[in-house]
Amino acid sequence: TNFKELGLITPLLDRLTELDYQQPTPIQAQAIPTILAGRDLIAGANTGSGKTATFALPLLQSIHLQKTNSQKQGSNKTNIKPGNYVAGLILVPTRELAKQVADSIKSYAQHFNGEIKTVAVFGGVSVNTQMLALRGGTDILVATPGRLLDLISSNAIKLDLVSTLILDEADRMLSLGFTEELTKLLNLTPKKKQTLLFSATFPEQVQNLTKTLLNQAVEIQL
Ligand code: AMP
Repeated sequence: TNFKELGLITPLLDRLTELDYQQPTPIQAQAIPTILAGRDLIAGANTGSGKTATFALPLLQSIHLQKTNSQKQGSNKTNIKPGNYVAGLILVPTRELAKQVADSIKSYAQHFNGEIKTVAVFGGVSVNTQMLALRGGTDILVATPGRLLDLISSNAIKLDLVSTLILDEADRMLSLGFTEELTKLLNLTPKKKQTLLFSATFPEQVQNLTKTLLNQAVEIQL
């Protein structure tokens, strides 16, 4: 299979050609069509499997299509989003991963010519720059749980317009003690959304999370 057969659109395919991604990795081949179809997903995936592109490419595609459709319908009031919205939320365990995932997304989005805004927020640095970056809202937010809660308490961002929620390295997130933060965050997202969970291992804590969070999810184990 190639990327086109998975259902990806030209701006993404052109970028993948530039990056010399010649064919999808096994997880990409299995998961991308499922995600594009709007299904929830549980994926067993390690770093190096190509998991970032697995969730990033369909997310970019769905946000691009949402924007194109709302433009076609005209700029009526219902399409105007509040200044602290986020559409695609990616939760990650560490600041390094947050930066890395955001950089990958920005790279894959290059042919959308600035149409899709991506911001990364994480602890250990001043909150002010991140608050400024979030002004006007963002299409995609990559965040560590603690800092995201801080930014929510100060009204810099709100999760009620999240349409896609992605948990990356869910096992690490829970083992780093983010369970309570995660529960709070998940309760702030809308019930109706697409949820994707990526984890290298599936201990009981992660299994419990999948039960409460995912809805008739497709499971991929590589
Ligand atoms: P990840 O598992 O998401 O951390 O990705 C591991 C590395 O593989 C990253 O450097 C990606 O740029 C690269 N990569 C992901 N998918 C492909 C692909 N289909 N072909 C070639 N390289 C890829």
